[in-house]
Amino acid sequence: MYLKSIELTGFKSFAKKSELNFTSKVSAIVGPNGSGKSNIAEAFRFVLGEQSIKSLRGKKGEDLIWNGAGDSPRANRASVKVVFDNSSKFLPIDFETVTIERVVHRDSVNEYLINGSQVRLRDVVELLASAHIGASGHHIISQGEADRILNANIKERKSMIEDALGLKLFQYKKQESERKLLKTRENIGQVESLRREIAPHIRFLKKQVEKVEKTVQMKNELTTLAKEYLKREDEYINKTKERIEKGKQPLLEKEKELDKELSSAKSVLEKAKHKDAKSEELITLEKDLHKIRDEKDNLFRDFGRLDGELSSLSKMVKKQEEVAHSIEHKTVTLVSVEEIYKKVEEKIKSARNLRDTKALLQVLDEVEKILTDFIDHNKDKVDMSLLEDSRREIETLRSSKKQIEKSLEEIKERENKLSEQYNTLKNDIEKEKDSNRDAEKAVFRIMAEFQEVISNLHSFSLEEETLKVVAEDYKRELTELGHLLGTHILKLSASAISNSDEPRIAQEERRRKIEKIKIRLEDSSGAGEMEVLKEYTEVSERDSFLEKELIDLEKSAESLTGLIADLDSRLSTEFKTGVEKINAQFKEYFFLMFGGGEARLSVITPPKRKKKDIDLDLEEGDESEVVPEEETEEGINIEVILPKKKIKGLMMLSGGERALTSIALLFAISQVNPPPFIVLDETDAALDEANSKKYADMIENLANKSQLILITHNRETMSRAGILYGVTMGRGGGSKLLSVAFEEAIAVAK
Ligand code: ATP
Repeated sequence: MYLKSIELTGFKSFAKKSELNFTSKVSAIVGPNGSGKSNIAEAFRFVLGEQSIKSLRGKKGEDLIWNGAGDSPRANRASVKVVFDNSSKFLPIDFETVTIERVVHRDSVNEYLINGSQVRLRDVVELLASAHIGASGHHIISQGEADRILNANIKERKSMIEDALGLKLFQYKKQESERKLLKTRENIGQVESLRREIAPHIRFLKKQVEKVEKTVQMKNELTTLAKEYLKREDEYINKTKERIEKGKQPLLEKEKELDKELSSAKSVLEKAKHKDAKSEELITLEKDLHKIRDEKDNLFRDFGRLDGELSSLSKMVKKQEEVAHSIEHKTVTLVSVEEIYKKVEEKIKSARNLRDTKALLQVLDEVEKILTDFIDHNKDKVDMSLLEDSRREIETLRSSKKQIEKSLEEIKERENKLSEQYNTLKNDIEKEKDSNRDAEKAVFRIMAEFQEVISNLHSFSLEEETLKVVAEDYKRELTELGHLLGTHILKLSASAISNSDEPRIAQEERRRKIEKIKIRLEDSSGAGEMEVLKEYTEVSERDSFLEKELIDLEKSAESLTGLIADLDSRLSTEFKTGVEKINAQFKEYFFLMFGGGEARLSVITPPKRKKKDIDLDLEEGDESEVVPEEETEEGINIEVILPKKKIKGLMMLSGGERALTSIALLFAISQVNPPPFIVLDETDAALDEANSKKYADMIENLANKSQLILITHNRETMSRAGILYGVTMGRGGGSKLLSVAFEEAIAVAK
């Protein structure tokens, strides 16, 4: 036996705490009309979670609470507690005894407790569903509701039978899975739309990252190239400087020596007693030549300096030209952009009032033309202002250079003239073969040697000037590259370079390559490279997280769909086999009750009907409206054929026949899947004596599988009960409970 007791406190007519113990398989509750017997049946419904107050004969929760009468004041709460013996673990909970309690307060707030702990209604419903005592209450038949299953529509019947077959738990599971699936699909939609949202941003960032990577690659290439170039250049400058120094040193010494020799030769001549005209001439000539040489020296120096400046300026101009011609660096003035804006704005204004698509399209074409003209015009335009300055400077330098060249020519002419004079004098003096002319001869020799030394020194100083330009260029390049690639580039590698005697042109070629990469780098360099990389990493990490989440969600949607399909097929097969089993019992009970005839349940799916056919009050002339098809669901149909009568169908049955059919079906259901207890409230009311006997026999049979609580006025029924409770209405207006003997019961029932 599963049901131990029920306790009512403040519930309906039970003002005081009243307890019924069900120590027998069959318990009967008897009492006069209006004493509160049906309230006990309702107390069962209530405690098991019934949500329809109407089915408990009330309008609101408050109606279930003792309302006060006589000197018993109204209660604030109604509570019903039912106690089960769970030693067989028919309820899937690890307790020997399970108490379920429900309390309703005057503000209609409900509380549910399992073994004293507050729980949700759902917990109660799920716990009971596993023991086939579901909320549809197929096992609690209220007064006058014996034929409830006959009156119910096919869908409600199906629900009752599912409940009785213990399928509700699977349905809860299915509903739960469907809810989860819906939520999962919503989440999938959200994640997908999030991914769609960030996709363009990722694409944009990816392009930026590719640019950054290309820049890095270019920088690496440039670093290798620049390191080699700078190293070679440094070596070239040092070596050349060394060579010049080395070459110059003996020449300078020689010059000093010659200077000394010349001075002494000249002083000999000056002091000579027989200083003649020729000696005088020689001294003057030597002075003039010396002067000219000094002038020439200065001019050469200026020439070298100018040449250097010219060559570095030309290089700069070349670079500027390249930049000026590259499209990426093209600049336009704000004024010209404002002009174009005005033109476009005018067109848009004129288009505002146009309603004709053709005219609108024409305006769009015009706007397009304005913009393409602007771009084409600016594409071919080169910003020359900077270049012009440099070019002018080159011109100035060139003309200065020409000036110097001219002065050099003049000096050379003067020098030639002097040289001629000098040579004639030299020949004259040499012809004289006079020993007195030794000093003069020495001057000639010295002068000749001087000439050679000076010209050699000249070529060195030219080289020096050129090298100075090279060194300056080198210094500039070093700073530029340092800026661009980082200062590490300034540390030249100590390792020696291979084929250090390669022609200078190779270095030139290298420099050209470096310039090219530098321009490309300038074109592609954008600020915030690190930020781009960081953002790209962040955004793509987020995207892969979302992608993973999507995969997880899809997997869980898939498994939920599978689970739902499994539950569906399980529900369907168990339902069908359950119905067959019930049918077998139904047939027997029906035959027993009516002494013949036939009855069966069938699972039917009503044909689909257009909704419009059902809603007959729909306004006419609404044909344009989309007419949805009514959802059709399986249901249970009951077919009966009474013995010796031509009656088919439930509609034609008498009250008694309806009661008998219901009882047969009810018992059949209870046989197939016995609930732990069944409450029958005056189900036997409509039975005549002969049928009361059959009913009572069946009760005994049924009691072998389920505990029975019978509310009855029927003597035959009472006679089968092991325990009898009498309910009377006290003087204060509240129900009173008392245990009674059979004879007493018969008296009380009256
Ligand atoms: P019958 O044999 O005629 O079917 P019954 O014994 O089943 O009668 P019930 O219908 O259970 O009687 O009891 C009805 C009684 O309960 C009524 O007298 C009604 O006034 C009383 N009752 C119902 N709700 C409350 C309430 N909230 N407070 C007090 N009394 C109530």
